[in-house]
Amino acid sequence: MNVGRRHFLKLGAAAALLFPGPLRAQQPGPRVVVVGGGFAGASCARALRQADPRIGVTLVEANATFTACPFSNAVIGGLRELSAQQFTYERVAADGIVIARGTATGVDSQLRSVTLADGTRLSYDRLVLAPGIDIRWGALPGYDEAAAERMPHAWRAGEQTLLLRRQLEAMPDGGLVVISAPANPFRCPPGPYERASLIAHYLKTKKPRSKLIVLDAKDSFSKQRLFQAAWTELYPGLLEWVALSKGGNVTAVDAANLTLVTDFGRHKAAVANVIPAQKAGRIAEAAGVADRTGWCPIDPVTFESKLQAGIHVIGDAAIAGAMPKSAFAANSQAKTCAAAVARLLAGATPSAPKLINTCYSLVAPDYGISVAGVYQPAANGQLTDVPGSGGVSPADAPRATRTAEAVLAEAWFRTITAEAFG
Ligand SMILES: Cc1cc2nc3c(=O)[nH]c(=O)nc-3n(C[C@H](O)[C@H](O)[C@H](O)COP(=O)(O)OP(=O)(O)OC[C@H]3O[C@@H](n4cnc5c(N)ncnc54)[C@H](O)[C@@H]3O)c2cc1C
Repeated sequence: MNVGRRHFLKLGAAAALLFPGPLRAQQPGPRVVVVGGGFAGASCARALRQADPRIGVTLVEANATFTACPFSNAVIGGLRELSAQQFTYERVAADGIVIARGTATGVDSQLRSVTLADGTRLSYDRLVLAPGIDIRWGALPGYDEAAAERMPHAWRAGEQTLLLRRQLEAMPDGGLVVISAPANPFRCPPGPYERASLIAHYLKTKKPRSKLIVLDAKDSFSKQRLFQAAWTELYPGLLEWVALSKGGNVTAVDAANLTLVTDFGRHKAAVANVIPAQKAGRIAEAAGVADRTGWCPIDPVTFESKLQAGIHVIGDAAIAGAMPKSAFAANSQAKTCAAAVARLLAGATPSAPKLINTCYSLVAPDYGISVAGVYQPAANGQLTDVPGSGGVSPADAPRATRTAEAVLAEAWFRTITAEAFG
């Protein structure tokens, strides 16, 4: 039965007057449904309960176990096991959050209900969508789900991560590895270059006659100077980056022949990692919160959709202005959104937030670099950089600083996963 609860506050207040004492505690509070139990959704569900324990929070998640992308490049490079990336929802449930295991397939924004694949309907006063990304299958000619079994993307962690690792392990020494990196925007701007670094590290230590080429649909990328300086120092002659203007844009793939096609030629790989164009997770489209870009425009104070009232979008799926699509950004947005939703449900006005992001990348197991930023809503309705804030690791730092940043990266992972799942 789908019962709207939009007037709970009025009804709740009236009931409290009629039935003071114990019955008051039994009044149902507002109901928030969160779809997607990743860095954004799990953190938001928990922050909602912390903001106001009267809010009934249901977290809809398709999988019993979450597999984290941060540090999955280290799994591909043979430095870490996939199990270190995996988290369950037991502690989230222990916070009093109802875990609805299933895939959300539809949203009725008029009735304020979410439908799951098994037909269950969940009513909400406010809905938070945090579905992460989907691949834009078909955007790159030749690259479909079958092709991804030959040329893994490994851009959602799990089986794809292991597939790419196994392909590297099976490759003979002397093979050519090719990574294709997409145009902006996409999940984790430094991710393809961290991956290139850790694959280069694997090749240098295990298969030194091999070579790695990164074909890029861009002319510049996150932390570029730091990455390139490190590549010159650590992987000379092994790792080559080909910019868009130098023929890096991959226009088609031939999965059967492990070949990537550019306007300038064809690259036959021994192992090919195709990181394709992406869009918001598909429930965003079904809910009517994605625009023609495939991503979701939001209000920068509340993360409420600019297209559908009562639905908030956080994490990679959102168009968050200057904020990158990262786990840290997702966590920061989750807390901001939870605070705003709690205030809106209480009839109060949300206050303008400041959000932060910090992103570490490993260039080698003991060599870390980072970027940080602070963001605020601007008059143009977007999240923009706070002037004078943020920055990247110093270009001329001693090696000890790089080693310290690699250690900090591990601590960052423990913290961010603990906030979501621990
Ligand atoms: C290789 C790689 C390395 C990265 N490294 C870093 C890093 O070092 N630091 C960093 O900050 N970020 C990093 N990222 C980015 C980070 O992983 C993402 O930005 C982050 O996961 C976004 O969080 P999210 O909650 O939006 O999406 P996700 O974490 O992907 O969570 C989405 C969840 O929603 C669920 N879901 C989706 N649709 C439905 C539905 N319809 N019904 C039910 N459940 C649904 C999914 O199962 C999933 O659990 C990296 C990414 C990659 C690919």
